[in-house]
Amino acid sequence: MQLHNTSGNLVQKSNKPPDTKKDNTLSDNQTTTNPPVSKTALYWLRRDLRLEDNHALRQALASGLPVQCVFVFDSNILNTLPPTDRRLGFIWQSLREIQDTLRAAGGDLWCETGPAQDVIPRLAAQLGADAVYANEDYEPYARRRDTMVAQTLATIGKTFHAYKDQVIFARDELLTASGKPFTVFTPYCNAWLKKLSPQHSQALTVPPLTGRLRPPAGTPAMPSLTELGFGQAEPCLLAPGASGAKELFADFCQQRIQRYHQQRDYPGVKGVSYLSTHLRFGTISIRQLVQFACFDGGEGAMCWLKELIWREFYQQLLWHFPDAATHSFKPQYRDLPFPNRLDWLESWQKGLSGYPLIDAAMRQLNQTGYMHNRLRMIAASFLVKDLLIDWRLGERYFAEKLLDFDLASNNGGWQWAASTGCDAQPYFRIFNPVTQSQKFDPDGRFIRRYVPELAALNDQAIHAPWQAKTLPEGLKLGRDYPLPIVDHAKQRQLALALFGKQ
Ligand SMILES: Cc1cc2nc3c(=O)[nH]c(=O)nc-3n(C[C@H](O)[C@H](O)[C@H](O)COP(=O)(O)OP(=O)(O)OC[C@H]3O[C@@H](n4cnc5c(N)ncnc54)[C@H](O)[C@@H]3O)c2cc1C
Repeated sequence: MQLHNTSGNLVQKSNKPPDTKKDNTLSDNQTTTNPPVSKTALYWLRRDLRLEDNHALRQALASGLPVQCVFVFDSNILNTLPPTDRRLGFIWQSLREIQDTLRAAGGDLWCETGPAQDVIPRLAAQLGADAVYANEDYEPYARRRDTMVAQTLATIGKTFHAYKDQVIFARDELLTASGKPFTVFTPYCNAWLKKLSPQHSQALTVPPLTGRLRPPAGTPAMPSLTELGFGQAEPCLLAPGASGAKELFADFCQQRIQRYHQQRDYPGVKGVSYLSTHLRFGTISIRQLVQFACFDGGEGAMCWLKELIWREFYQQLLWHFPDAATHSFKPQYRDLPFPNRLDWLESWQKGLSGYPLIDAAMRQLNQTGYMHNRLRMIAASFLVKDLLIDWRLGERYFAEKLLDFDLASNNGGWQWAASTGCDAQPYFRIFNPVTQSQKFDPDGRFIRRYVPELAALNDQAIHAPWQAKTLPEGLKLGRDYPLPIVDHAKQRQLALALFGKQ
């Protein structure tokens, strides 16, 4: 089936492999300048860094041709990242694991650096691939890139096949009764659960790779992180690759999933799955997670399944409303006159706002690349409604720092907290950073971990040290830990006035 998407995309969306018997000749230029090459099928890895339960890889293998797995360090993306970006380490190590598996099966991983829209068609010609197989990516940049790749491939008689892999339901597979995209979570979630059948979460098993891969001759060496310009990357604390994902998932299933609904809101407790980065880079299959949650069926598992559905809700929103990536979803909040005090933005970023739970959250982000969901909500609300800073500045900071950064979920989460999103927190519901702290970190365990200068405060005082009658000896606020940079009650009124005028 030829699918023309909204951007005039020419992408083969197919459940069947193409007809490999057809002789798709190379362009004149290539036939005269290149020696003959044996035919191959090219599988392009992007946000699906695993070799099991992988739709596009399975289809590439079904072509019957030797498969060459390819990864492109896309310079369009790399050039926007700081040299300390810790996500590169995660990707690189995950690729190393894939390379080891491919080598053991008689193949290799082909890595190139450059603009993906140029590299892929060139490689397809060079390796004699008539078809390129990839899993769909729904982000605006990826959609533009894939359109370009498909168009260039078409000009040389080759096809691009894209498959649904990172979600259970994509694009417009779930629409309201009137055929419109869902913009409210609860009805979307109900429709998602109603449509789900065992088939949707069934693994797309990949057959054994031995004997099915293109031999490794001529494969370039994988560039090191230093060669890629990321030599000083901050250490990634999360075990990478499909093996890291498996271990983490097994641990979650054995230890925590049953109590997920009770523990997921407490950052000081190990209650959540920590799988977001693996989901982001596809080192684990969404089908496997959904299947397990449905099989388990307990209260914890069902609550967790709902979080996986939130992920899909935001993915389909971004697909239908790509402008939300840069603008408030609600038009009335597009031009809010935020004062945007940059000194306050910096204090928030550094974890020096004087509000202990906010500071612990931001330091967790800076030190580990992860932030607990409850804290993302509180820290985002604080930036927008206490510091009166445009949500997009906070969104950008999270995008830089989060190991699990995902445009759809990050944008959705920020617009939810900022009240600018489609199914967002109402603008007048403003988190109080002190009561949130008392509720979700009652014994200050999380604060003590990330704000050690407050560790000696008692469980009551630790949430608002400036209100404490006495402080531990040697601790002076304003010197050892900041006094609050704003007064919550006052800022709350200003936020209500700012939003209420619209
Ligand atoms: C302001 C803000 C920014 C966020 N930015 C991102 C982001 O860039 N990338 C990202 O993956 N998540 C983001 N989230 C959602 C959520 O905070 C993380 O997915 C979650 O904290 C990851 O931890 P976990 O894997 O242990 O989650 P678990 O609680 O174990 O949940 C399982 C999975 O469900 C998905 N999920 C859970 N909660 C949400 C949610 N609210 N929205 C969408 N998906 C969800 C994630 O894929 C997660 O891995 C953001 C939330 C907010 C409020």
